[in-house]
Amino acid sequence: MRPTVLTVAGSDSGGGAGIQADLKTMLALGVHGMSVVTAVTAQNSLGVQGVWELPVEAVRAQYRSVVDDIGVRAVKTGMLSCAPVVEAVAELIAGTDAPAVVDPVGVSKHGDPLLAASALDSVRTRLLPVATVATPNLDEVAQLTGIRVVSEDGMREAAAAVLAFGPRWALIKGGHLPGEAVDLLTDGTEEHWLRAPRYDNRHTHGTGCTLASAIAAQLAKGRSVPEAVTTAKEYVTGAIAAGFALGAGIGPVDHGW
Ligand code: PLP
Repeated sequence: MRPTVLTVAGSDSGGGAGIQADLKTMLALGVHGMSVVTAVTAQNSLGVQGVWELPVEAVRAQYRSVVDDIGVRAVKTGMLSCAPVVEAVAELIAGTDAPAVVDPVGVSKHGDPLLAASALDSVRTRLLPVATVATPNLDEVAQLTGIRVVSEDGMREAAAAVLAFGPRWALIKGGHLPGEAVDLLTDGTEEHWLRAPRYDNRHTHGTGCTLASAIAAQLAKGRSVPEAVTTAKEYVTGAIAAGFALGAGIGPVDHGW
C-alpha cells in the first residue's frame, strides 16, 4: 500500500510554501499526501497580504476524517496560526500512532507573522513534547528558547534547549549562518552534522515546508530519523539549487528537479 502522509499547515495561494509545497514534495517522493488546512493566506512572491484562520473545529474535523478512514503513516505540521489550533493539533498527534515532524513556523521570509505571539507557549509545552522531529531554523530557535545562534557551536546549545521541550529529535537548521548550509540533527546522544553547498539563489520560498515534508515522507516509507533527514536534506538542496523566479519577489524552490 502507498504510504500516506498528512500535512497540517496553512495554504499559500502563490503555491510556493505551506500546504502546496508540502503536497508537491510528497508527490515527488512517492507518498500519498493529504492535508488539514489551518489557515488560508493571500500570498505571492512579495509577501503575505492576508491571513484567515479556520475555526479549530474545522481543523479537528479534517484531521479526524483522514485518520478515521485512510490512516496516516506520518504527520507534518507547519503554520498553525494560534494557540487553540496548536493545542488541538498537539492533542490529535498524541492520539495518532505515527511519527510527527513539527516545523515550528513563526514568521515568513518576508517577516509576516504566521503564528500569534500568544501561541508560542503552547508550541513549547504542548506541541514540541509530541514531536518525533522538531525542525526550527535559527529565528525560530531564538523565538522558542531565547538563544541567538551565531556559530556552529551555538547550534549544540540550541539543540539541547529545544530537546528540553520534549521532542525525540531536534534538527537545528543553520542555513541562515554564512558559509555552507549546516544543520545539526541530535537526540541528545547521537549527533549528525549535515552539510550542503550554499547556492547563490534567492528563490528559496518554501524551503522549510519542503524539508519537513520530505522528512515526513521518508519516515512514512519506514526510514529511521537520521536516514529520513539525510535524504530529505538532499532533496531540499536540489530543490533550492533549482529554485526559480516567479512574480517580482522571491520565487519558489523547485519540486520537479
Ligand atoms: N506561508 C505559509 C502558509 C507557510 O506555511 C510558510 C512556511 O512554513 C510560509 C508562508 C513561509 O515560507 P518562506 O519562509 O519559505 O517564505
